[in-house]
Amino acid sequence: MRIPCGSISIGLDSPDGDIPFLSHAHSDHTGGLKRKTSLLSSQATIDLAGIGAQAIEADGAKLIDAGHILGAKQLLVDSDGARTVYTGDISLRQNIFGMKAEIPVCDRLIIEATYGDPSYVFPPLEEVYSQIYGFVKENSKKNIIIGAYELGKSQELVRLMNEDGIAPIVTEKTDDFCSVYEKHGIKLDRIVVGSEEAEEAMSRAFAAIVPMWKAKRYFAKRLADAFERPTVCAVATGWALHYRFNTDAAFPLSDHADFNELVHYVEQSGAKEVDFFCGDGKRVMDAVKSKSGLILNS
Ligand SMILES: [Zn+2]
Repeated sequence: MRIPCGSISIGLDSPDGDIPFLSHAHSDHTGGLKRKTSLLSSQATIDLAGIGAQAIEADGAKLIDAGHILGAKQLLVDSDGARTVYTGDISLRQNIFGMKAEIPVCDRLIIEATYGDPSYVFPPLEEVYSQIYGFVKENSKKNIIIGAYELGKSQELVRLMNEDGIAPIVTEKTDDFCSVYEKHGIKLDRIVVGSEEAEEAMSRAFAAIVPMWKAKRYFAKRLADAFERPTVCAVATGWALHYRFNTDAAFPLSDHADFNELVHYVEQSGAKEVDFFCGDGKRVMDAVKSKSGLILNS
């Protein structure tokens, strides 16, 4: 998808158009942009995506905070007397690093709808953080493994554990992402798996953050056998609100806007034309219409 910006067009997380905009570094958004030499993007996103591109600007286009993960931006374009906003992935809840999305007023809105289902309303982030914190505390004499996406959620978990004086063990990939967070001013204490420090840490009860697919009971059992120490496992994902996981606990930690936040965003933006991506926004628009009584195009 692309949108006009004066005499040029801007590709939205896509190589289409004269200039591509990359909202953030999750791999479902970087496709086709890895070899670009210049991108409308934040430097943190370019660093996290491992792209050797230069961050550029375009007249009429502005990048604004999206929350979600480090470097994530929304695109705001003023062209032909109308303002268009493309959100990329957004989170309206302020996360542990203080990141959250701005809501600009606009004419046309292109917004994500990952959780465009009214049954997805997340508890306050502080509540989810304190559930995870409680789980870690209560199992401090056991090995703890928590599954999470390696970019974004894992860094939140590292910081959360750091606040309890724990430096968790992480994968090399997560460590690389943590290094970029640090380059951009966010300190994260962690231990990389396979290092001498990790060997040492594993001589007593330890906490590890692993990719989602690894956080299963059978893996915890293998660790329990290998280290002769009880081991518990959990996942941290927004889908935990409704899906069951083969783990001891599941925490609804999300870096996306939930249903109510999507409705709030659409209302606050005042947009007369709204398009959705990453999901179906029909029920979001139904909720907006029933609240406002206005007729909007979706
Ligand atoms: Zn994302």
